[in-house]
Amino acid sequence: MNPHTTKLITADKARIWHPFTQMKAWSAPEHEPIVLVDGEGAILRDSEGREYIDGNSSIWTNIHGHRHPAITKAIKDQLDKVAHVSFLGSTNQPAIELAERLVALQPDSHLTRVFYSDDGSTAVEVAMKMALQYWQLTDHPERNQFLAFANAYHGDTAGAASLGGLGTFFDRFGAIHFDARHVTDLSELEALPSEVTSKLAAVIIEPKVQGAAGIRLWPEGMLTTLRAWCDRVGALLIFDEVLTGFGRTGRMFACQHEAVVPDFLCLAKGLTGGYLPLAATLTTERVYEAFLGEFHELKTFYYGHSYCGNALGCAAALASLEIFENEHVLENLQEKILWLEELLGGLASLPQVAEIRRCGFIAGVQLQKAPGVPCDWRQQTGARVCVAARKHGLLTRPILDTVALIPPLCVSKDQLSSAVQALESAIQEVSHD
Ligand code: PLP
Repeated sequence: MNPHTTKLITADKARIWHPFTQMKAWSAPEHEPIVLVDGEGAILRDSEGREYIDGNSSIWTNIHGHRHPAITKAIKDQLDKVAHVSFLGSTNQPAIELAERLVALQPDSHLTRVFYSDDGSTAVEVAMKMALQYWQLTDHPERNQFLAFANAYHGDTAGAASLGGLGTFFDRFGAIHFDARHVTDLSELEALPSEVTSKLAAVIIEPKVQGAAGIRLWPEGMLTTLRAWCDRVGALLIFDEVLTGFGRTGRMFACQHEAVVPDFLCLAKGLTGGYLPLAATLTTERVYEAFLGEFHELKTFYYGHSYCGNALGCAAALASLEIFENEHVLENLQEKILWLEELLGGLASLPQVAEIRRCGFIAGVQLQKAPGVPCDWRQQTGARVCVAARKHGLLTRPILDTVALIPPLCVSKDQLSSAVQALESAIQEVSHD
């Protein structure tokens, strides 16, 4: 290892606390963290000069690849003007233009208002608080409950985490969470009594696929049925497209697969192409108009963050949307999705692979010890496979014993082949450990 890398790692281990990371294992002398120094397209490079395919899109954020000249230029151009200005009491051009573009991306919808925040969790917090206040303002304060799905993940801030359905992440913080109701599927939803449904402010779902649950797919038609159910019981509907937005499922937004329009659409991660933290919560005029009134009526939406409408982030997002158009990203993606499907079909025959779940460019390879024998999660098989895959040039992450493969949309067919080959070699190696 070169001395500069050693120095960085020593300082990291001495000073940094990483997210979702057991720091005892991280700081152990034998653990050599990867120090990423640069990237280009779907490739990342570390401080030792090793290259990896970014198989996890840098935690599901990157869309068009690293160092895309158009996004880099847009950020630099904006930086030459101003990096950030307050969105309370003033506005800025990139934020205005981005709002227009985001609304225009929902051609037949009535999602016409854009509220900016910083990340996926805050996009969800915004939707929840808007829904809650909407019902207060429309004389239904009794509608103050939220319904989410089992195994859901909507972020880590206390409100968003209250909607989460992954016990390992959230149960320990129960004391600061509110009580949200969780159902496993539509039949449980349909069975809810009117005493419950009449108190619902909103229902939230990760459309088409639950990511953090281990890439779990919803059945076809789920969104259509859910929309109809919400309309019937009078609850608002929130789509959390923090993972699924911006082409990952093969369409710009997952809800477009079923042409279903929510009352709130939460966007983050890929919004800026994965370059800067920025989120947007889109909603309808119906919701927006309920908040209009005289100052003394206190109908204002009392919510915001210092970096709302950040000009650099909005400039990056505008550039990302232009790339979608100029490079025909979604059109070109369809062939790559079919290629990924074919490649993963080959992996499925390995005895160590229990199941492969995929929606567009979001894939999860669930491992097993042997046919019919699940892995023991304590043995961290998924994590060991990911570590082994690095030697073969693939960087990705596990969700317990499911290895995620969620590459940037710009990845080439050859790089996809290499990524799946790396995964196969890693799976074979770990099973011989
Ligand atoms: N919602 C979904 C569906 C997510 O997958 C995530 C993060 O993985 C979030 C919300 C939270 O986003 P963030 O980590 O940007 O707060």
